[in-house]
Amino acid sequence: MALTGVEIFKLLPKTNCKKCGYPTCLAFAMKLAQRQASLDACPDVSEEAKQKLGEASAPPVRPITFGTGDGAVKMGEETVLFRHDKKFVNPCAFALEIKDTLSEDAVNAKLDEVLNAEIERVGQKLRIDAIALSNDSHDIGKFEAAAKIIAQKAPGLPVIICSDNPGAAEAAVKLFSDRKPIIFGANTANADAMADIAKNYKATLGVTASGGGLDALSSLTEKIKSLGVQDMVIDSGARTAKDILKDNTFIRRAAIKKNFKPLGYPVITFAIREDSLLEALIGTIGVAKYSSIIVLSSIEKWKNLALFTLRQNLYTDPQVPMQVEQKIYKIGEPSPASPLLITTNFSLTYFIVSGEIENSKVSTYLAVMDCEGLSVLTAWAAGKFTAAKIAQFIKESEIENAISHRELVIPGYVAILSGSIEDKLEGWKITVGPRDANGIPAFMRARAG
Ligand code: SF4
Repeated sequence: MALTGVEIFKLLPKTNCKKCGYPTCLAFAMKLAQRQASLDACPDVSEEAKQKLGEASAPPVRPITFGTGDGAVKMGEETVLFRHDKKFVNPCAFALEIKDTLSEDAVNAKLDEVLNAEIERVGQKLRIDAIALSNDSHDIGKFEAAAKIIAQKAPGLPVIICSDNPGAAEAAVKLFSDRKPIIFGANTANADAMADIAKNYKATLGVTASGGGLDALSSLTEKIKSLGVQDMVIDSGARTAKDILKDNTFIRRAAIKKNFKPLGYPVITFAIREDSLLEALIGTIGVAKYSSIIVLSSIEKWKNLALFTLRQNLYTDPQVPMQVEQKIYKIGEPSPASPLLITTNFSLTYFIVSGEIENSKVSTYLAVMDCEGLSVLTAWAAGKFTAAKIAQFIKESEIENAISHRELVIPGYVAILSGSIEDKLEGWKITVGPRDANGIPAFMRARAG
């Protein structure tokens, strides 16, 4: 059970030294109870208190990383039921199922699909994150052979080894022992053997209730924990949209609201359907409602785009606008005579404006000014995109050393600023550009003659 603020307070040094950043030990204790502070912030807490508080202050959904290097997937650490309460922390991963009954060519083709699935959207690289190798053949040799192809061809991809046969699981997991894999398929019948394999190969264990419901799942995770395995992902066995929604919500509520440790693990959801559209729909339920891994049977560009976009939108911090770095961006291969445009650093604004400049095929310098991620009109209204600030940014950017002219094109929405910018940027001519980005290509082509 979670400790109350007062219970936590009793275990703290009670010196009110403020080293933790809070005015009193009680204030710090209250933040710990709400999981808005970390015990590490108090340097004077005793070892005994650390032990007692460690469990209570641990994130309600256990943090787990699977895979290594750039492709590693972080899961868990969630603290809220609703994104608007704070934010969702670790975006869910998508995994493509590869069956060991496929031919070598077919396995290679699936791997190529995954390796080529990455797209860039508003500056973020979005991709299919993992492979889920399933032992459909029930043949250890075939399973191991398929695992070998994956290990050789896609060394950077995180892998989920799906088999409830400990012999098959061990044959495959050996090939990924240095890659933090997941072994999925621990159940009441094989828990001891699967726990041993997970421990030996430092793998996360995927635990399934096999239709036994959430009570059975809780008992199983407790048993596996007592066998020495800490890192687990859990599957309630739900496969219909309604059951996935119901079970995932129950699991998250139990973890967050009740601090119920037996269900405080990332959830894996199998969205697999023959009908790709239905599979995409089931996937969206997993994205929206608490799945940390969603296993798909096929990937297609339209499906990826829908799932990636939903994931990206839900896993951004609602309190922090998406923004790009303040600097002068080169679009194309600008020369000293190339035009200079300015806009704000809201990601969407930057990507739309830069995209339209690319469409114009006119090489350009684009000055992107830090306005705390606000769009042009909002930044102007908030006093962050003003004549004085624009003039200061242009001077400090040293763009004057790169261009042979002194003309700055400002967005049409802030035409009102043109005179005052000219006053502050001596020797510069301010030109008012189009109000909307889609007017940029025609504007640029007309200027280029
Ligand atoms: Fe209390 Fe520790 Fe914070 Fe000091 S650092 S005020 S002892 S909780």
